[in-house]
Amino acid sequence: MTDSVLNSIIIGWMLVAVISFFYLLRKPAPYGRYAAPGWGRQMDARVGWIIMESPALAVMLAYLLYYFRTLDDMTLWLMLLYIGHYTYRALIYPFRLRNTVKKTSAVVVGSAVFFNLVNANLLGYSFTYVADYPPDIGFETSFQTGAMLFFVGIWFNIKSDNRLIRLRKESPQAYVIPYGWLYRWVSCPNYLGEMIEWTGFALMAQHLASWSFVVWTVANLLPRALLHHQWYLRTFPDYPERRKAVIPYLL
Ligand code: NDP
Repeated sequence: MTDSVLNSIIIGWMLVAVISFFYLLRKPAPYGRYAAPGWGRQMDARVGWIIMESPALAVMLAYLLYYFRTLDDMTLWLMLLYIGHYTYRALIYPFRLRNTVKKTSAVVVGSAVFFNLVNANLLGYSFTYVADYPPDIGFETSFQTGAMLFFVGIWFNIKSDNRLIRLRKESPQAYVIPYGWLYRWVSCPNYLGEMIEWTGFALMAQHLASWSFVVWTVANLLPRALLHHQWYLRTFPDYPERRKAVIPYLL
């Protein structure tokens, strides 16, 4: 495939993300607090997470093993960072969700599988056929900023998720107001962390597919953060007034 064909496919895929963004602003993906009947067969949320996220892990692992001998060190490390994230998301995070009584729908699982298959293939292909990193890339300011953002994003994401997992354990049936840590400023610091993480990744990876992944992450999580925030405001009359949805002091 030529670079221009690949770029056209990726740009088309980003346009689908923009359409999804506006759709998800009006209709949240029906899982978690928005779970509702009428979205196909329901399955255990934990099983759903494993099925949804494993394709991303499997695809990138396949690219890595198949092209292993041809990969330079930087490409290998970037692919390992992605694999590390998805090992956590597909195989560890679902088992940390205690007391989960929630179901998730086949429609959510099916669309997430599709999303992960396309993204992981675009990224895997770009790492193995397009990326060509200079030996001194690690000294570039943009790369170093990206590395810092990637790890800060993971920290924000996991630490914020940990709070919610603990709240769900203490209160298996009801939602409660999260306090402390980044919840002082925003309702969804876990989503903020995830968006920062993949922005950092794109600054390191420096190809269009990694920016397309950022666009998709924002298209999935920004509308959900805005809807979560409105839901908190509607549900809890004593919800902290100065807290924003996802970006402190702004949004
Ligand atoms: P949520 O914040 O909606 O829920 C996470 C967990 O915390 C669920 O078990 C939920 O329970 C529980 N929880 C949430 N709020 C409360 C509360 N106020 N009181 C008690 N329990 C609560 O996150 P998601 O499930 O949407 O996402 C989970 C992770 O996956 C996040 O880290 C997110 O960044 C990531 N993700 C990434 C995407 C991407 O495109 N890269 C897309 C979607 C998610 P319950 O299930 O009952 O609601």
